[in-house]
Amino acid sequence: ITIYVPRDSTALALGANEVAAAIVAEAARRGQEITLVRNGSRGMFWLEPLVEVATAAGRIGYGPVEPDDVAGLFDADFLAGGQHRLALGLVDEIPYLKKQERLTFARVGITDPLSLDDYLAHEGYQGLQKALAMQSADIVQEVLESGLRGRGGAAFPTGIKWKTVLGAQSAQKYIVCNADEGDSGTFSDRMVMEDDPFVLIEGMTIAALAVGATRGYIYVRSEYPHAIAALEQAIGTAGERNYLGENILGSGRAFHLEVRKGAGAYICGEETALLESLEGKRGVVRAKPPLPAIEGLFGKPTVINNVISLASVPIILARGAAFYKNYGMGRSLGTLPMQLAGNVKYGGLVEKAFGVTLRELLFDFGGGTASGKPIRAVQVGGPLGPYLPESLFDTKLDYEAFAAVGGMLGHGGIVVFDDSVDMARQARYAMEFCAVESCGKCTPCRIGSTRGVEVIDKIVAGQTQQIHLQQIHLLRDLCDTMVNGSLCAMGSMTPLPVLSALDHFPEDFAGGTLDKA
Ligand code: SF4
Repeated sequence: ITIYVPRDSTALALGANEVAAAIVAEAARRGQEITLVRNGSRGMFWLEPLVEVATAAGRIGYGPVEPDDVAGLFDADFLAGGQHRLALGLVDEIPYLKKQERLTFARVGITDPLSLDDYLAHEGYQGLQKALAMQSADIVQEVLESGLRGRGGAAFPTGIKWKTVLGAQSAQKYIVCNADEGDSGTFSDRMVMEDDPFVLIEGMTIAALAVGATRGYIYVRSEYPHAIAALEQAIGTAGERNYLGENILGSGRAFHLEVRKGAGAYICGEETALLESLEGKRGVVRAKPPLPAIEGLFGKPTVINNVISLASVPIILARGAAFYKNYGMGRSLGTLPMQLAGNVKYGGLVEKAFGVTLRELLFDFGGGTASGKPIRAVQVGGPLGPYLPESLFDTKLDYEAFAAVGGMLGHGGIVVFDDSVDMARQARYAMEFCAVESCGKCTPCRIGSTRGVEVIDKIVAGQTQQIHLQQIHLLRDLCDTMVNGSLCAMGSMTPLPVLSALDHFPEDFAGGTLDKA
């Protein structure tokens, strides 16, 4: 009998190792033979640790399980899918999962992340097999036709980036994976790396074949030790079995891959600062041009893509561009793994085709707030994303539709706030975050963010009506300077959460309207 207990860091934080140990001990005590598999998480975090038992009908779930529940589960004959107060029925039938369209996350939670054989048994490396039989330009064309756009936030067409690198003349080219996932409420990169690392390795190997690169680096934030360990083990296994190395599957093509641990700065998620950091320097943003595709890592042509972008490539190659672009709407094709976080009842990973509304995600999946109070605002797209009020919840998840209402999808993080949130404090936090995380290269961001904190403090401090209005005007003026005068998104987008809070929730800034004169 096979039992699954996740090894994902969310499950570990909630006691999965203790539960796994209790199951092994209890089975031994009762003389029952079991096979324990440490799978990834299904991404339904309120059910973690989610224990699954393989039965003839499918995998039956129990959760959230605590070590003290284990003896009772054995008493209830859970090894045969028996009834228990924690029983969830067939895991694949849980609506939260069943309503999703999992392409990039097809294997996540199902397989043993560190087993290459399990990966191969679940359509793994089929994309690479196809790519090995194709010309480089045809691989690039397939990715171009799929409509895949950068899932890290910028939404730039991945195929165009690859085409530029393919066309660049150089004896050395690189593939760099941006795994410095630093946006608030995001964890999809981490889940891929911990729960299905081979899909990222395969995506990067296909990218290497597409552009003629022989070396790759995965830049992982230092706060992700489990992801780093999983990647290193998977890279070792892939090398032993010739899926990486000098002679990939006897093709004569070479690709070497290494993991690099980030140094803990938000700005190192910006691609040029990341390249600086990879080169061993301080993570400071580079001016563009030159584009990294022409002069990237160590001055060589470099593909730099986010984890989800690269992890989406294997299925595009395996099933074809037409299959992938059949999902989605407009120019937002395929799926986007959204991450529900903050004050939400059912937090977790929801991979859906573009076109789902924010409201469906918040209520049909998220179940509203964890506190039971009404949702007042959501921040989509990380700390630089604007705050959206309820009137915009029917916006469809689509890069262009979000941009039309002043929003952004970013890396797909959704942070939920109930009606106890103070939006002036959130605006102040955005400026403060920028002041702390600014790389310091340009003045509007480095100085403007600190001035921004001061101005917001004055606005809410209680002033005469006239001074209050002057300060609001000053804040808008400052935001305008930051938007137009900053070198990168850190400075130019910090005004988005600030201004959205001011525009949609002006009552929270009214502390200053008390006329004391
Ligand atoms: Fe650095 Fe901020 Fe300028 Fe970006 S906007 S280059 S983070 S100082």
